[in-house]
Amino acid sequence: MAIKLKELFKKNNEIENNNQKNNIYKTEDIPSVPDGLYTACEKCHEMILTEDLYSGNMVCPKCGHYFKLGAYQRISMIVDNGTFEEWDKGLIENNPCEYDGYLKKIEKLKENTGIDEAIVTGVAKIDDKETVIGICDTRFLMGSMGHVVGEKLTRAVERATSMRLPVIIFTCSGGARMQEGMVSLMQMAKTSAALKRHSDAGLLYITVLTDPTTGGVTASFAMLGDIILAEPKALVGFAGPRVIKQTIGKELPEGFQRSEFLLEHGFIDNIVKREELRDTLAKLLRLHTSAKRDSMRKYKEYLDDIYHKKIDEDKEERDIEKQRKSSKDTAWDRVEIARSSDRPTALDYIYSLTKDFYELHGDRLYSDDGSIVGGIAMFGGQPVTVIGHQKGTTTKENIKRNFGMSNPEGYRKSLRLIKQAEKFRRPIIFFVDTPGAYPGIGAEERGQGRAIANNLFELSTVKTPLLSIITGEGGSGGALALALTDEVWMMENSVYSVLSPEGFASILWKDNTRAHEAAEKMKMTAADLKELGIIERIIPEFPVLNADTMNHVMMYMKRKIADFMIQYQSKSVEELIDNRYNRFRKF
Ligand SMILES: [Zn+2]
Repeated sequence: MAIKLKELFKKNNEIENNNQKNNIYKTEDIPSVPDGLYTACEKCHEMILTEDLYSGNMVCPKCGHYFKLGAYQRISMIVDNGTFEEWDKGLIENNPCEYDGYLKKIEKLKENTGIDEAIVTGVAKIDDKETVIGICDTRFLMGSMGHVVGEKLTRAVERATSMRLPVIIFTCSGGARMQEGMVSLMQMAKTSAALKRHSDAGLLYITVLTDPTTGGVTASFAMLGDIILAEPKALVGFAGPRVIKQTIGKELPEGFQRSEFLLEHGFIDNIVKREELRDTLAKLLRLHTSAKRDSMRKYKEYLDDIYHKKIDEDKEERDIEKQRKSSKDTAWDRVEIARSSDRPTALDYIYSLTKDFYELHGDRLYSDDGSIVGGIAMFGGQPVTVIGHQKGTTTKENIKRNFGMSNPEGYRKSLRLIKQAEKFRRPIIFFVDTPGAYPGIGAEERGQGRAIANNLFELSTVKTPLLSIITGEGGSGGALALALTDEVWMMENSVYSVLSPEGFASILWKDNTRAHEAAEKMKMTAADLKELGIIERIIPEFPVLNADTMNHVMMYMKRKIADFMIQYQSKSVEELIDNRYNRFRKF
């Protein structure tokens, strides 16, 4: 039965107000629902007009503090009005440890909060896209996970699997529910196992971490999302800060276990402000909708139509060939162009060639390496994954991007996104531009060689079409880690080599001033590599990529990429993988 959200929202608030008046909760649990015209911010203690608080998504307009939300409040902010249908309300509670007064306490909380447990689940629409949704609620025993929470969540995930729907869970929890002992711990296993089946069915799972998400919930469903988002400054961690502090006897660093800390350490994809959550979720759901039949072919026809109105393609190809043959540019000239700081970066290509790009972050293990960017975007009405080495355009950004030289966590992030693309059957477009993998102590300590090797190993059998485009410098193994693909293309003025010309001259001739000479010897230009069969296509730059030629080059690329997609998406998975194997086997 569909529930009228606004009514629930109102009712929920009334109950909340009574709770506060009757002092139901301990001080730290007080739900932040305002009473009367003004409400005091629990952080900055300023008086806020209650109406402003509501219209501002329950964010303090003075200090930006996020008030905690009840489950129905959250639902009303996120889903399309009138579309929420609640599931599994009123499951029977049990008391496996026969803990004194437990069931009575639950009854009282049900009465006082208007929710029947620490999670509300159901199905709804967000911007007209159907999804299963679950919202944890800290007002109910700190959102702890007992049998009923685990059961509601598991049932929701199982139903989502059979209905082939995505799942979105908003988490907030103190962890396992102590009163239920080991039965509570088993909920971590049960929910994780249900999510694995959902994932194996190729379905999307998004988690939104809200303040606080800790303990057993972090060690199960909270951290298992294909995409993990978090509200700003939310506390998220396994062991609580107080426990850690007591155990190690040290002060914890500023911002420890907050969302920003998690993003930096590669555990979450993004931090999303409350007012942007609905749109972000809607966008992510759209990016996981399958393309309309024939959309790529129609896109190609559309592009051709525009192109041929302006250009005689045969003549253009002949001109490109003529220009290439008469070019006086030496290999070293190309090296210099490829390294030039005003070459477009991966993000420039991504924004020019695709639509609706959503960047994802982190390797889920150690860090978010800024030298590799990746995410989901639309190309020709079809979702694709895009991944590329990213150089900076300013000194400051270059330091953040480590000059496009990746650490192991960069390759591990790319591999995570590669596996994600495979799960959702998205083709991948790579943009390669790196002087090489980062030579550093930390990189070696964290297994640089293993990280690159893993990419090669896994890319060889990815079940979706893979295209790699060398856009600037293709530096050795660090470049190949994003280039074991069905086809490899090079921009006309890019280079791709086993080593830098300086390094080559230094190793073979003990003289790194002979780099110009080395560049010629090494056969590192697009024309040389096409002749050797290392690459399939040269993208002309007419004759150098700059603001004037950019649009034309991008149009050329779009058409060729659309051709690639049509050709490779028509192949069976076996054929695709066999071809890829043979492509590299021949060398
Ligand atoms: Zn405030």
